[in-house]
Amino acid sequence: MGLNLILLGPPGAGKGTQAKKLVEKYGIPQVSTGDILREAVKTGTPLGVEAKSYMNRGALVPDEVVIGIVKERLKRDDCTNGYVLDGFPRTISQADALFSYLNECGCPINSVIDIRVSKEYLVKRLSGRRVCRSCGSGYHIEFSPSKGTGRCDNCGGELFQRDDDREDVVTKRLETYEAQTSPLVDYYEKSGLLKTVNGVGDVEVIFNDICKIIDGR
Ligand code: AMP
Repeated sequence: MGLNLILLGPPGAGKGTQAKKLVEKYGIPQVSTGDILREAVKTGTPLGVEAKSYMNRGALVPDEVVIGIVKERLKRDDCTNGYVLDGFPRTISQADALFSYLNECGCPINSVIDIRVSKEYLVKRLSGRRVCRSCGSGYHIEFSPSKGTGRCDNCGGELFQRDDDREDVVTKRLETYEAQTSPLVDYYEKSGLLKTVNGVGDVEVIFNDICKIIDGR
């Protein structure tokens, strides 16, 4: 049976960082709706043009759009043995749609891991975040700076700040999380799938906690 995971948690909790480590350890792909949407914005596809206005004001892209994206993505061969969903679902409707879809194909979610970080950390984490334009590696100007001057340690690519990591948009994204996504904690608690980890502290310690949950499932 595949390893089908959801990483839950507010923006800035470290979902992307942990997802990348899970990819390495368990050999399953990271399915990040944020990454897929950003790629579409970059290449200027019709999806990207539509998504951009929502993303740049910290709002959610409409449910039917992201649900369509995820269904297509999960059909690909690399998801046969599992995947880690990062940034999806983000609303109850998305969670319901995912549930029905996976029910139909008989491959349910194994665990939903909620990465908990208190609000005061999040603004600092998001506004100091930098990403490599070439390989997508994540940095933080204070907590995990690159060794070189503004270049990626892995590939030498240019580091940049996401448009929606500017402080004004960050505040809005956190409000959006509270209003639309945080109800999912209860939703998955009720379905018995929810596990929580403390998301403040050393990346390796947090990763270890996540692996313990996965290996003990
Ligand atoms: P992320 O990289 O996960 O923080 O996502 C960046 C932005 O993409 C979000 O602020 C939303 O505008 C959009 N987005 C990503 N995932 C979803 C989703 N599941 N539902 C709606 N919008 C999404």
